[in-house]
Amino acid sequence: MGSAAALSSSAATGRIVSINPATGVPLGDVPDMGADEVRAAVARVRAAQPAWGALSIKERCRRVGRFADVLMSRVDEVIELLVKEGGKTRIEALNMEVAVVADLVRYFSKHAPRLLAPEPIPLHLLRHRASYVHYVPRGVIAVIAPWNFPFSIPMGEVAMALIAGNGVVLKPSEVTPLIALKAKELADAAGLPPDLFQVVTGRGSTGSALIDAGVQYVIFTGSVATGKKVGAACGERLIPCTLELGGKAPAIVCADADLDRTAQALAWGAFANSGQVCCSVERVYVHEAVYDDLVDRVVALARSLRQGDASTGEVDVGAMAWDRQVDTVERLVDAAVKAGAKAACGGKRVVGPGQFYPPTVLTGVTQDMDVMRKEIFGPVMPIMKVSSEDEAVRLANDSHLGLLAYVFSRDTARARYMAEQIEAGTVMINDVLNTFGAPETPWGGVKMSGIGRTHSVIGLRDVCELRHVNYDRVSLPRELWWYPYRDRSYKLLLGAMKALFGKKPWRRS
Ligand code: NAD
Repeated sequence: MGSAAALSSSAATGRIVSINPATGVPLGDVPDMGADEVRAAVARVRAAQPAWGALSIKERCRRVGRFADVLMSRVDEVIELLVKEGGKTRIEALNMEVAVVADLVRYFSKHAPRLLAPEPIPLHLLRHRASYVHYVPRGVIAVIAPWNFPFSIPMGEVAMALIAGNGVVLKPSEVTPLIALKAKELADAAGLPPDLFQVVTGRGSTGSALIDAGVQYVIFTGSVATGKKVGAACGERLIPCTLELGGKAPAIVCADADLDRTAQALAWGAFANSGQVCCSVERVYVHEAVYDDLVDRVVALARSLRQGDASTGEVDVGAMAWDRQVDTVERLVDAAVKAGAKAACGGKRVVGPGQFYPPTVLTGVTQDMDVMRKEIFGPVMPIMKVSSEDEAVRLANDSHLGLLAYVFSRDTARARYMAEQIEAGTVMINDVLNTFGAPETPWGGVKMSGIGRTHSVIGLRDVCELRHVNYDRVSLPRELWWYPYRDRSYKLLLGAMKALFGKKPWRRS
């Protein structure tokens, strides 16, 4: 039984069944919450938030830090559930989910007091006054999450929002709700106020009810199509939001690249988490001088990967979390092959039980094929030959998406120059995917890949309200431009402005 079938068959009962994608076996079920339950959850968080927000930031950091203690002490049960509900391999569950959250919690617990400390703004003109900004909690933050990283994506955002003094309501994907409930269990075990962080389970309508329930900020991660609806709903209510949407990451392989490292990086970048990564290597542009060599290496690596259910043995590639995504991958690959592409390996979905698509390398693709233009979100690497680096950069930028991009070259200066020409939120040189696990770096895209950034000081400050205070350093009886307006004041002001803003005799232009 596929998960989509299970989702629809349970709709009438108001429950959502979570399925192990590697076996098709149900793992449990959760309520499909309606607007009333969502509003009640938001109300609980709203009541708990002021006391939390009134704690010192150091104290909040100390308490959120305990989440990492509990997470690491119960790491085995978290990994087991990630493997079962997400279809992941154990190493992916550890590296890409648990470690990312543990490190982020530790990082922000240590650095948030400095990052959110009030900041003076030196005034260049009115020096008898001074300004500073300080960061205060917004209130209730809604986190709406996808299924591909059901732990690391939302829980990083939840931890940052809590450290900043907010309460949080998390709406996990209907495909992977159990792991969010496990996260809530860990938060409670860590001693966080039970009402401060709530999880509301359900489908899209639960997510839209959450945006409508009086929250102060929305962090949404998901598809472009849903992101547009979320952005519109936030606009309607004038709630600020961060939108983390789809990607179509290009990888450019220059003629001077270290081909051994490049092939390994590309294979991992395209097939890790079964390619269900927003920053997966989704299209590769290889200089003609090294094309054949690189393709041979990547195909050999792809063929060597072991795929299967990670809970029963050692595997490199797990299951795909959502059955409809397997259909999308199949459709894109079949259409490409029909239009002249060649599957150098893989290319046909694995017959069940379980939802598996094999690591696939496509050659002979062209830029106009859907497989080069639409997000695949599966273990497929289309590779195209190019005759110059300029052509590669032009093709990389020929996309409506711009989340991550990759450049492989031994010439760092040249690679950095190319990286700066590429329209993406992040460009990595000689590496892939990893910056999601570096909490101090900004995460987010340009073009239709989204708006705003999570992680980093930018993401932390975005879940705060910025307040600006302006005060007097030297108290004057009155300002020159106040009432009454007199000719004398006008002349004085005009003279001062000419002196300040007018052309100086000693300036050339
Ligand atoms: P999705 O858009 O289908 O769903 C995401 C979440 O939104 C789910 O929880 C869903 O229930 C909820 N939702 C659906 N309709 C809604 C509505 N009208 N209002 C509010 N919430 C609603 O995405 P998905 O299939 O779960 O995730 C895959 C997509 O996410 C891919 O496109 C991938 O690239 C993207 N993604 C982006 C990032 C990033 O950091 N930029 C990270 C991971 C995934």
